[in-house]
Amino acid sequence: MYKSIVIGTGPSGLTAAIYLARANLNPLVIEGPEPGGQLTTTTEVENFPGFPEGIMGPELMANMRKQAERFGAEFRTGWVNSVDLSERPFKLQVEGIGELVAESLIISTGASAKLLGIPNEKESIGRGVSTCATCDGFFFRGKKIIVVGGGDSAMEEANFLTRFASEVTLVHRREELRASKIMQDRARENEKVKWGLNRTPLEVLSGDKGVTGLKVKNNETGEEEVLETDGIFVAIGHRPNTAFLGGQIETDETGYILVKPGSAMTNVEGVFACGDVQDSKYRQAITAAGSGCMAALECEKFLEGHMVHDWSVSLSK
Ligand code: NAP
Repeated sequence: MYKSIVIGTGPSGLTAAIYLARANLNPLVIEGPEPGGQLTTTTEVENFPGFPEGIMGPELMANMRKQAERFGAEFRTGWVNSVDLSERPFKLQVEGIGELVAESLIISTGASAKLLGIPNEKESIGRGVSTCATCDGFFFRGKKIIVVGGGDSAMEEANFLTRFASEVTLVHRREELRASKIMQDRARENEKVKWGLNRTPLEVLSGDKGVTGLKVKNNETGEEEVLETDGIFVAIGHRPNTAFLGGQIETDETGYILVKPGSAMTNVEGVFACGDVQDSKYRQAITAAGSGCMAALECEKFLEGHMVHDWSVSLSK
């Protein structure tokens, strides 16, 4: 039994943990398969205030974790399979731990990169297919790369990858790009960026040494084509990690948790959400951290006078 459990250890979850721990609420923080979240897959973070020279993503996350531990937050590794939010205290079924019970919950499970869902894509992850340019771009020095997608992420990744690649082809299923004008212009002005518009990816082609090409449908002619490449970066957006909630928390049609405007409150009293799992718009480390702070302060306020358990006679946390 815990007063508060935080699920997820990105900037929002860790900030919530720091605030809860400093309020003597001894939070349990559940760390999933990607401790530290998406920032651990980036290199230098230049826009997190307080670091004029920038800071490496993994270092920033390690610092936040240490800060939460310093004030008494407890960390355990596990995968939350399901939750029962029908009554308080809430119950969590956690693979690797078992059942946990909590007076309040903070959901900060973030979002994961979407895949195309075409043959040989999943099998080729780590063998030429990637969803993270900053993590894997380095491995493609002097090579030909395809970036799939027509949004800001795809433009950003394509530009970034030209630092390494000899040529980057942007493959997008429509003629028009979804990306903002400034991001489109940057990509268009980059001589190393080529365009494969109006092409729908069909299959990842690979050989002994990894990816060799991408089979696409040319939507103008209806013909299939093979675009030769050494690597494919999929940049088609993210999916919030909310499946484990089993529909008990209100989300929008794409799965992002709906919070009451200007707060971190969900539709279930005592359950709060912060970070990318409830933010498809800003998706920044600093906005995630800010929302983690909001969730913790609201949680603290909620727990005053709302405890189900008699903590004065308990050895529980
Ligand atoms: P996004 O705007 O949702 O764009 C996703 C792109 O992937 C779209 O062009 C979409 O095609 C394509 N796509 C989706 N599913 C596909 C599929 N199954 N097969 C082929 N193509 C598919 O996602 P995002 O680019 O990650 O951006 C998300 C948000 O973050 C946006 O608000 C964006 O402005 C922001 N962001 C900002 C920056 C920046 O300003 N520096 C950088 C990155 C992201 P359609 O267009 O045909 O739907």
